[in-house]
Amino acid sequence: MPLQRLRRGYFLALLILALVACGSYLIIDAMQRAQSHAVKLTEIAASQRSNLRRVAQIVELILRTQDQNPGGQRWLAATHQELAALADDISTTRLAFDAELARMHDPLSRPFIRPLISTQRAQRFSAMTEAAAEQTRKFAALDPNQVEWRFSVWAPIELELAAEGALMVEATAIAGELNALAMENSASFRRVHMLLAVVTLLTLLAEYLLIFHPMLEQLRLRHDKLARVTSKLRHLASHDLLTGVGNRLLLRQQLLTMQANEIAPEHAVLLVDIDDFKNVNDIFGHAAGDHILGQIAHRLHARLKRGDALFRTGSDEFTVLIHGELHLSGLVVLANRLCETVSKPMQYEGKEFLVRACVGAAAHSAADPITADELLKRADFALRTAKLKGPGHIRIFDKCDQGLAAARDLLGHRLGEALAQGRIRPCYQPIYDIRSRRIVGVEALARWHTEDGEVLTPTHFLPTLQEYGMLDQLSDAMLRGVARDRQQWLERGLMPDYVSINFSESTLADKRLPQRLQALFGPGDLHWLHVEVVETALLNQGGGLIESNLRHLMRQGVRVALDDFGTGYASLTHLRGFPCSVIKIDQSFVSAMLKDAGTLLIVRGIIDIAVGLGIEVIAEGIETAAQCEVFQPWPQIAGQGYFFSRPLSPEALLSLLAEAAELHTASQRGLS
Ligand code: C2E
Ligand code: MG
Ligand code: MG
Repeated sequence: MPLQRLRRGYFLALLILALVACGSYLIIDAMQRAQSHAVKLTEIAASQRSNLRRVAQIVELILRTQDQNPGGQRWLAATHQELAALADDISTTRLAFDAELARMHDPLSRPFIRPLISTQRAQRFSAMTEAAAEQTRKFAALDPNQVEWRFSVWAPIELELAAEGALMVEATAIAGELNALAMENSASFRRVHMLLAVVTLLTLLAEYLLIFHPMLEQLRLRHDKLARVTSKLRHLASHDLLTGVGNRLLLRQQLLTMQANEIAPEHAVLLVDIDDFKNVNDIFGHAAGDHILGQIAHRLHARLKRGDALFRTGSDEFTVLIHGELHLSGLVVLANRLCETVSKPMQYEGKEFLVRACVGAAAHSAADPITADELLKRADFALRTAKLKGPGHIRIFDKCDQGLAAARDLLGHRLGEALAQGRIRPCYQPIYDIRSRRIVGVEALARWHTEDGEVLTPTHFLPTLQEYGMLDQLSDAMLRGVARDRQQWLERGLMPDYVSINFSESTLADKRLPQRLQALFGPGDLHWLHVEVVETALLNQGGGLIESNLRHLMRQGVRVALDDFGTGYASLTHLRGFPCSVIKIDQSFVSAMLKDAGTLLIVRGIIDIAVGLGIEVIAEGIETAAQCEVFQPWPQIAGQGYFFSRPLSPEALLSLLAEAAELHTASQRGLS
């Protein structure tokens, strides 16, 4: 908008300047023409005057000449010829004078010529010169020897052309006037020039003051505002809104700049991760969680030395960047101090909170220079090692960890290859109806068939897949495997009622999930598909997107099963809000319920509530007949566990399904 106005202003200014320039040109041109007329008239008048003077001179000489002498006779004859030519010259010059006079009075030059030469005087002068030319011509036609005649014609000529004669007086006056006019014109020329220069300057000044200055001022204000907004945006992009400390982006930028410019060859990062922070959010609400994070940031900051920096690099993770030489012992002391400062009690709305943190640290030194990414990776590795030991632990990355981290990288690489080569495939664990002992469904469980012929369960590879962000690829591999095996079951008429697949959070949060399923299994309803979700996936930050994805799938016939129910933080009341139609009671409850009366009560309570809400129940990890017995009282409870069957290869499952189908057919025949 201001640029448009500036462009308009610029064109307006150009137009005004162009008009001023055109006007100036016209005025100067007219003045110049007037001046050139005046100069020309002066020249004509001067030449006329010299013509007349010459005639006067010749007249004087003729009057004094002795005509008896033969030399005088010849001279007189020649003089007569010159007089005839002069008479013509006088006439021609008079005509030129008249024409120039007329031109001088043209409408364009008139305003610049002071009317010094009155028309009457000019006409009189013109008539007088013409009369003089006539007299001269008459005399030139006479016989030079008739002396008395000579006098009769010459006398008036002499009278008029003599220096004090009327014509000469007139000629002198006109020449004087023209000279004065030329002088006058030059003076007004200068004046007009000055005036035009002043007008141009004033126009420029007015344009600047009225057009450009306000616009430039407006532009400057806008630019300042834009600069302020840009710097605010830059600050927002690199800082955490809640705590005001830098974010991961800023940390990486600072590390990269430090390393590129070799600012501090010795530096270290300490990752501070709050243990079980989700509990605070889930139990006490996000406002309490935010307040506590703010307090933690404040406390950590207070612990830092000048030049060190604090960043929030995850929802419940802070990173401290330390400059300067730091030995292992120094890092240990600092890490412990940070743990200690976090674990001090905190207050919020009259309640006391106690949280703990784990710290993982890694250092960069001139002796062991590593990239910024490697440094962060090492600190992350140390943090995870610390977390494995439990809340409140610290770990500094050392040489031993280097080997472990390399092994982990290798595992990540091998897993990537295994996924690409289709070495991670589903096996299936049947799910039985407890009362009828009929196979109602199967759960697809991932297995890694290594090149050495080993078959590895998810505990060996799931954490690494998660760490390397490959869980979505695992979902893809599982879905492709299920699509392949389902085709076989359908062809053989052995399709169980449903197939359950464990979906990672990343897959559930994928907006394109419904399209992905449709591409694999074709259009139509997906009533045979159970999607297993862990409670935390629904409670975490991406819960909104996951929930809407699940509701979309449910509309296509998919049933959602809440896996490992009871181990997360979802309370029973959440069941009403969650988009789920099945709960899978976790095996930890099943294995403990016969040893602990309280657990048994909980299990029964869960089943009663779920059944009351119209939610199906599957008991996981049933290993004994006694455990199975517990679920007998309720109709339609399903069970899964080693008591019924271990997870089976697709081929083994196919045989089992065929066997079950045969048994069923036989029993039907027996009944009939
Ligand atoms: P889950 O979904 O709860 O699966 C049940 C786990 O319990 C399976 O372990 C199964 O072998 C085991 N199990 C079944 N019956 C019994 C029993 O009677 N006693 C005992 N002790 N265990 C029993 P698995 O196959 O090792 O899988 C472990 C977990 O890995 C699964 O727990 C699931 O959370 C995850 N998982 C498996 N496959 C996938 C997958 O394709 N994608 C994702 N994201 N996770 C998967
Ligand atoms: Mg499962
Ligand atoms: Mg489970």
